[in-house]
Amino acid sequence: EAAVAQVQGLIRDIPDFPKPGIIFKDITPLLGDAEGFRLAVDLLADSIEGPTPEYIVGTESRGFIFGAALAYKLGAGFIPVRKPGKLPSEVHACEYQLEYGTDALEVHRDALHQGARTLIVDDLLATGGTARATGDLLRRLGAEMLGYSFVIELTFLAAREHMTDAPVHSLIQY
Ligand code: IMP
Repeated sequence: EAAVAQVQGLIRDIPDFPKPGIIFKDITPLLGDAEGFRLAVDLLADSIEGPTPEYIVGTESRGFIFGAALAYKLGAGFIPVRKPGKLPSEVHACEYQLEYGTDALEVHRDALHQGARTLIVDDLLATGGTARATGDLLRRLGAEMLGYSFVIELTFLAAREHMTDAPVHSLIQY
């Protein structure tokens, strides 16, 4: 579709970032393009099937950008999932595996009510470690998980095979 192609045209490859051998998908040209950024958020909104989310959950830090814009468009609340030590009140924490070592994500324990309809949003799905940790946190909060939405999916990493708890959607696949 033309709109998806326009968004895709604003994503650039940066070779050897952050490490040699990795091709980083850089979304900053998309964010800087007024029409493209709006289009990406509109396409994310259009892709939602079923009930309207009460909350959009965005993962630090690029998930905040798309997640907050989508929440505004849908009239939903926004919940930040953050790196350890950033949230000021009581949190749930979830550790997850990186290529070397572990990292963790946190969410406020009182971020939402039991059964709240919740959609997770991030810029990019790679191995799925970040998204799965975010899903774990939401389950512990008692959220109803409507799904996961990404601007970009690196399909060759097959992350969605391990994300069977809720539907996975992406605008652009590589
Ligand atoms: P995963 O946990 O391996 O799925 O990695 C996804 C997370 O890492 C997301 O929060 C992305 O923002 C970030 N990420 C990984 N690779 C890229 C990339 O090529 N471009 C932009 N963000 C990336």
